[in-house]
Amino acid sequence: MSNLNQIKQSLEEQKKQLLQRLDSFATEDLFLRDSVSEVSSAEHQMWLTEVAPLRMEVKAHSGNLLKEIQHSLQRLEQGSYGRCEKCGQQIDAQRLRIIATAAKCQECSK
Ligand SMILES: [Zn+2]
Repeated sequence: MSNLNQIKQSLEEQKKQLLQRLDSFATEDLFLRDSVSEVSSAEHQMWLTEVAPLRMEVKAHSGNLLKEIQHSLQRLEQGSYGRCEKCGQQIDAQRLRIIATAAKCQECSK
């Protein structure tokens, strides 16, 4: 059981960090939107073509990860954590150690 507690703790920790990251993104977005008029159009253009897509990607990735973590925490509480959602088999412990949010066994996620 201590193993599950450890997983839960590390997931909670990751969740906190992700929420903070998403929070800072939201703040930066507001800041950037306000300051866009003061940036020269060339710089603005570069920002739009190079930085903005990257930020969008990180944001989307963080959002997805957060959903996975919340889902895993839910499964921990329900006691279904570590079991494949598709075939119901126990997920390999090695796999869970690498991907703590794995909801399917290796076979089913192919
Ligand atoms: Zn499976």
